[in-house]
Amino acid sequence: MSKIHELSSILSDQIAAGEVIERPASVVKELIENSIDAGSTEIDIDIKDAGLQYIKVVDNGSGIESNDVKLAFKRHATSKIHDRKDLFKISSLGFRGEALPSIASISNIKLKTSTGSDGTEIDIKGGRVLNCIPAESRKGTTVEVSDLFFNTPARLKYMKSPATELSKITDVVNQISLGHSDISFSLRHNNRELVRTSGRSNLQQVIGGIYGINTVKKMIKFSMNDDDFKISGYTSLPEMTRASRKYISIIMNGRYVKNNNIAKSVLEGYRSKLMIGRYPMTVIKIDLDPFLLDVNVHPTKQTVRISKEEQLCSLISDTIFKTLEPKNLIPDAIDEK
Ligand code: ADP
Ligand code: MG
Repeated sequence: MSKIHELSSILSDQIAAGEVIERPASVVKELIENSIDAGSTEIDIDIKDAGLQYIKVVDNGSGIESNDVKLAFKRHATSKIHDRKDLFKISSLGFRGEALPSIASISNIKLKTSTGSDGTEIDIKGGRVLNCIPAESRKGTTVEVSDLFFNTPARLKYMKSPATELSKITDVVNQISLGHSDISFSLRHNNRELVRTSGRSNLQQVIGGIYGINTVKKMIKFSMNDDDFKISGYTSLPEMTRASRKYISIIMNGRYVKNNNIAKSVLEGYRSKLMIGRYPMTVIKIDLDPFLLDVNVHPTKQTVRISKEEQLCSLISDTIFKTLEPKNLIPDAIDEK
């Protein structure tokens, strides 16, 4: 008998889940990204016990056609890319077709969806479909995930305190909302509202909701273009700094990403205005041709590779430097819209 065999789809989904779904915050991130890709303008998240017991994401997006609902839970099934050339110009947040099957393989998931003309409800536990029936609902999709990691006890044991898991979820919602000020988000934990954004395309207001209105009053707006990149955002006056770099938020084509070189170029823009060990608070949005951005680096899609990265970094550092010239050091008035 052959020693080599193919793994069952449930097992391979669980293996993929190990990379994609590290903790409750990863579920929240993947579900919100799906809601954004579906064109939603309103996304409401409800969680219980730091997400380990229950996560619900409700959107008003396109919904999934009933014929496609089971397929959406198959590994590498996606509506977002079709062929090789699409991989080099990704404009959606998802494209790997891994989130739903991964989540479904390690939890109890119920998805209710409607396109406006047809609706479906599916229940899956540990990768096994329990039920898939027609169901009425308003247009959009609601996903409920409970008992996360029920069949992967080692992963469950690795979870941090509820307070830490909850703060990671809040971070995810805040980070995503910075890139999508045109969508209204709400996050409730054990029935207490933790985040609410208006969806009125007011980035300054979203930043104020996260860091406080007094902080945003000490941030200056910037924007600049060159042939390849369009950058814009807010950065703090040199007098308002933090002891950590984590307050430099980078959003590329609507995706919150981590990138040391870009963070460094923001710091360089401050030249000698920062004390050692102090960092500014910055939200920088970068728009570019998706062809110049490779997001297919890691399953969580937060690491990216950028063509012309040096050009981008000097644009950022020059822009921040000019923004901080004494004559420009007047923070933006708060726009109450
Ligand atoms: P990916 O987002 O990488 O395509 P997922 O496993 O996250 O893979 O989702 C699979 C597919 O299910 C998506 O391509 C999309 O067509 C559909 N889908 C998932 N969530 C939603 C949603 N909230 N609204 C509409 N369609 C959705
Ligand atoms: Mg997805």
